[in-house]
Amino acid sequence: MRLILTTSRGIEDFARAEVERLLSDLGVPFRVEEKPLGVEGRVLVEVDKAFYTDEKGRKRELSVSTYLNERSRLLHRVIVEIASERFEEITGEEPERALKRIEEFVASLPVERYVKVSESFAVRSFRKGEHKITSVDIAKTVGKAIFERLERFGSPKVNLDHPAVIFRAELIGEVFLLGIDTTGDSSLHKRPWRVYDHPAHLKASIANALIELAEPDGGPFIDPFCGSGTIPIELALRGYEGRIIGLEKFRKHLNGAKMNALSAGVLEGIEFLLGDATRLSEHVESVDFAVSNLPYGLKIGRKSAIPKLYMDFFGELAKVLEKRGVFITTEKKAIERAIEENGFEIKHHRLIGHGGLMVHTYVID
Ligand code: SAM
Repeated sequence: MRLILTTSRGIEDFARAEVERLLSDLGVPFRVEEKPLGVEGRVLVEVDKAFYTDEKGRKRELSVSTYLNERSRLLHRVIVEIASERFEEITGEEPERALKRIEEFVASLPVERYVKVSESFAVRSFRKGEHKITSVDIAKTVGKAIFERLERFGSPKVNLDHPAVIFRAELIGEVFLLGIDTTGDSSLHKRPWRVYDHPAHLKASIANALIELAEPDGGPFIDPFCGSGTIPIELALRGYEGRIIGLEKFRKHLNGAKMNALSAGVLEGIEFLLGDATRLSEHVESVDFAVSNLPYGLKIGRKSAIPKLYMDFFGELAKVLEKRGVFITTEKKAIERAIEENGFEIKHHRLIGHGGLMVHTYVID
């Protein structure tokens, strides 16, 4: 079986490592490939069937897709691949011709192997890149081709709101994918614990990638701009045994973070502090790790205040940080200046896709 796993762009290596770890635990042969056909934010897994023994001693097949959906902290979706194909030059093609190619391709695929005709289905589509067709065009065309193919076997049922089976059709640049979306309509990064929705919250998958970059070893850990608590909560959910602190200037967000932590079942494991990160040393004496999604200014409105905020914060961080810091922001110039002027060294830099932007991520010590 081939699974296409989706995640944020720029963290495919962490998603791959997590999947390798999870599949090794299952003891099945597998192969994992980052960015199949060059597509960012995607990881391909080829995996054999896995089995478990039930309580009556019977050997049963274990659904690898369910296993990944339940355990991954870095993936967004788990898609069973039906077919992937490169459509050369589809990017500049006129809509009629582009849609015809997609329709003919889908019509040739044995979709009846993936859905019972008696089950309702819907097509969800995703498109990225320069095309003359829209994602709605793709969903309609693919839906029609699947319907017509299934008609050979009975009376297919479409249910756009509550389908039993979701087909996922993606056109990313020249690469087209059709698969069964086993995750459902809500991406895995939308955590069920999120009862308070911060306007600039970080995707939980990215929070986990930042935690991986920090490599916390049990020492005290702080998110000094914790907002709704995504980073501390995800760290606590990983079973972190060290001290975890979330600092936030605005009471409303701090209360929201506490509500989220309560709903995640980890409120006891996190110290939430109301306070200003530009006075960090008044709140904590020393921490080993600081990981944060810094205020960008784009969403909070006052972009001109960012260079001073970063300079003051990194000045304070220099007084308390013992090991590593990991920070994500769109404000490249302001953060690099603040890092360097306060005596830190950039150990690693990468771009991560978040909210349609590629955002700068730094590991410092
Ligand atoms: N990672 C968070 C989440 O997932 O909810 C979002 C963090 S948001 C980009 C930045 C947060 O920093 C906002 O909640 C904002 O209120 C807070 N903030 C801004 N200035 C601050 C300061 N001086 N000290 C502490 N927090 C501050």
